[in-house]
Amino acid sequence: MAREQVFNFSAGPSVLPLPVLERAKAELADYHGSGMSVMEMSHRSPLFQEIFDGAKAKLKAALSVPDTHEILFLQGGATLQFASIPMNLLEGGTADYAVTGNFSGKAAAEAQKYGTVHIAADTGATGHDRIPSQAELQLSRDAKYFYYCSNNTIYGTEWQYVPETAAPLVCDMSSDILSRPVDVSRYGLIYAGAQKNMAPAGLTVVILDRALLGRELPFTPEVMRYQTLVKHDSMLNTPPCWCIYMLGLMLDWVAEQGGVRGMEERKRERAAKLYDYLDDSGLFIAHARPGSRSDMNVTFRTGSAELDAAFVRGAAARGLLNVKGHRITGGMRASLYNAMPMEGVDALIAYMKEFEVQHHV
Ligand SMILES: *Cc1c(COP(=O)(O)O)cnc(C)c1O
Repeated sequence: MAREQVFNFSAGPSVLPLPVLERAKAELADYHGSGMSVMEMSHRSPLFQEIFDGAKAKLKAALSVPDTHEILFLQGGATLQFASIPMNLLEGGTADYAVTGNFSGKAAAEAQKYGTVHIAADTGATGHDRIPSQAELQLSRDAKYFYYCSNNTIYGTEWQYVPETAAPLVCDMSSDILSRPVDVSRYGLIYAGAQKNMAPAGLTVVILDRALLGRELPFTPEVMRYQTLVKHDSMLNTPPCWCIYMLGLMLDWVAEQGGVRGMEERKRERAAKLYDYLDDSGLFIAHARPGSRSDMNVTFRTGSAELDAAFVRGAAARGLLNVKGHRITGGMRASLYNAMPMEGVDALIAYMKEFEVQHHV
């Protein structure tokens, strides 16, 4: 199938805007008349430094990152941060973790190796179908930080509010960064694996308050020490050069589309259309409860594993790719990241309607 015939609903790595890919293609073998691809340049060269500084400045502008916060471009995925965060911020003390899905659960388990993890909330009892309210959060008095995941990629729930805590907020925004404005000043640390909504896999963005530097446990590897990484401006070792370049292109595209406010408007429209259909459907059931629903990952099912499988097969045959749910949840998941056009949602709903007519009993 050609790209024009496909809508890619993959949860990650996921769809990138075609203009971004076209620009990368045009610059692939010879970047701005340098005779080199970005993939072939020294990360210490002035030309790459320009790309690096540009991407950083664009991200700072897109998210209005205040001067109190540093931006790091790292490797190791979001998963490495599950360990980096407690190693750098826990100081052997206690941290509060809100477990609202798979990744926050993994982060909490990892943090236990470095101190005490207090579970401030756990929505596992109802299959992580909702986000806890502020009143439900059990905050410990001396927490070094409060950890949560703003968008649960697998279960399809998204925090609609920023928790109020005395401890600094640490947030995994891997699957909803750049999809809405964020008041970065309210956070001690924000991080995101790039492959959901920012760039190809291989880059992790960390944005952290400089006031939190210098708290790392003594055995923290040099390459995981925020203080060291800040000191070397993410270039203690070779950074993920190509991904940083791609992030710069993506940020240009986001700016052209009205910035994160434009992204937010569109993501709400896309998701609302699909949830409205799901709530009216006699066959499909949305997993996440109203008030907790993700605009980025819409999870749903028919109630029959056979019908779910038939739906996924039929979707793929029509170019509606990667709508199969995560293996933990089963069912279906449509990821509607920034690069998903409304036409993709329309095509999915059209197929769902047809499928419903065929299979509704
Ligand atoms: C995908 C994802 C992760 C894991 O990311 P890796 O880069 O594969 O380590 C963590 N958190 C969230 C919210 C994710 O969506």
